[in-house]
Amino acid sequence: MSEPTLDPADWSALGAIFHAAVDDGLAHLQDALDAPVWLAPPEAAKAALHEPLPQAPTPVAEVYESFKANVLPYGVGNVRPGFFGWVHGAGTAEGVLGDLMAAFMNCNVGGRAHMANELEHVVVGWCKEITGLPASASGLLTSGTSMATIIALAAARTAHADGDIGRDGMAVAGRGMVAYGSTEAHSCLAKAFDLLGFGRAALRPVPVNAAREMDCDALEAMIAADRAAGLKPFCVAATVGTVNTGAIDDLARIADICEREGLWFHVDAAFGIGALFSEAHRAKAVPMARAASIAFDFHKWFQVPYDAGIVLVRDAKAHYATFAGRKEYLATSERGLAAGEPWFCDYGPELSRTFRALKVWFTLKSHGLDGIAAIVNKNIAQAAYLAGRVAAEAPRLELLAPTSLNIVCFRYIGPGDAAAVNRLNKDIVADLQEAGIAAPSTTTLNGLTAIRVCLVNHRTRRQDLDAFLAGVLELGARRVAAAA
Ligand SMILES: *Cc1c(COP(=O)(O)O)cnc(C)c1O
Repeated sequence: MSEPTLDPADWSALGAIFHAAVDDGLAHLQDALDAPVWLAPPEAAKAALHEPLPQAPTPVAEVYESFKANVLPYGVGNVRPGFFGWVHGAGTAEGVLGDLMAAFMNCNVGGRAHMANELEHVVVGWCKEITGLPASASGLLTSGTSMATIIALAAARTAHADGDIGRDGMAVAGRGMVAYGSTEAHSCLAKAFDLLGFGRAALRPVPVNAAREMDCDALEAMIAADRAAGLKPFCVAATVGTVNTGAIDDLARIADICEREGLWFHVDAAFGIGALFSEAHRAKAVPMARAASIAFDFHKWFQVPYDAGIVLVRDAKAHYATFAGRKEYLATSERGLAAGEPWFCDYGPELSRTFRALKVWFTLKSHGLDGIAAIVNKNIAQAAYLAGRVAAEAPRLELLAPTSLNIVCFRYIGPGDAAAVNRLNKDIVADLQEAGIAAPSTTTLNGLTAIRVCLVNHRTRRQDLDAFLAGVLELGARRVAAAA
């Protein structure tokens, strides 16, 4: 009697399915150039997937067919060139290859002596070079900037707490700790303050100037007021590339303030890391080299398939002290498989970790920083082009924020009060998505609903922006006519 295994009875039959699947996947990417940006998941496909819990096995060929029919066509649409909503990279085929081979290797990158661990150290090292942090800094690949932010602020908390925060907790060692981020900072910051026990109120919202950059005079006044009230300012979180408008905070001035005040200087460069590759924006982004911690994403402007981000921490000791503490069964040894220090599980909350570094490595090696830079600069030029075209369509269209980097925010002007025009612009965006013409998103600026275009997609062409704008004008006019 043979013992059970999950290996296939026929490897070559499974191989045929794999080869067909790879062909389908590559066709999915190639066809994406002409496909509608988004297809709403049909009810029939949803119903087909909501099956009873599978007790008995199903032949993998059948499983694959169900995936191909019910799942594959109905992704979020970011592999398509007309997708420029929120902040989504389009991914690269080479990144997919890395992810596929990582799945074959099936490594746990919590630690130990193996090459997946080594390759993550390679990628972390490259990122120190990109950002200008010293080689002595520590780093960890994460699911994204949200997780990277939690880790960075946890390390900041360790470094600035009054005693042993890990042992004694906030009530004893973290009393009165407050920090600062602009009103345009990403919501992941507030979430981190909540999760780490500071409370959201401990993250002070610093007002922004007309360019939507942190108002540094206000920052200084807020720090002084908090100190006078007996609180303990410990951190300023600056943003390179805000989600609303792509603004870059004055990093040099914030770094000076942090130095003078003895504060942890954190930088959220989730997609704005790309500014380092732009002649026009590089100077504003370069002072991130003075940061105590930096968080950014590979799955945005670097075009690595989801999900992949990174946290870098200048004070490797504080980073390690925050997350280390393995018990005996996880002890390191000098030789054998249990060697390989440092272990990544000592630099974040997760013990078992996926081999994210491989898809980053494949993407960076295959395209080089030059390839990524070419996309960044193309997208920045496209944003300027689109902003120009929007301005030329006045008074039907109105820009709602200056376009400095890669984001264009504007609205369609229709009849009625502000609420009616806000409604109209929300409808136009949903109309565009449902028609499969383009996928912008919306945001609110000074109470006005903006159609928001964020260009981080390497596949976007000028013709996609032209089709999008024609769609806005046509669908807007149609809605206005229908309401008259
Ligand atoms: C996307 C983004 C985040 C969150 O990153 P995730 O990778 O989605 O977790 C944080 N800050 C900024 C500026 C972002 O653009």
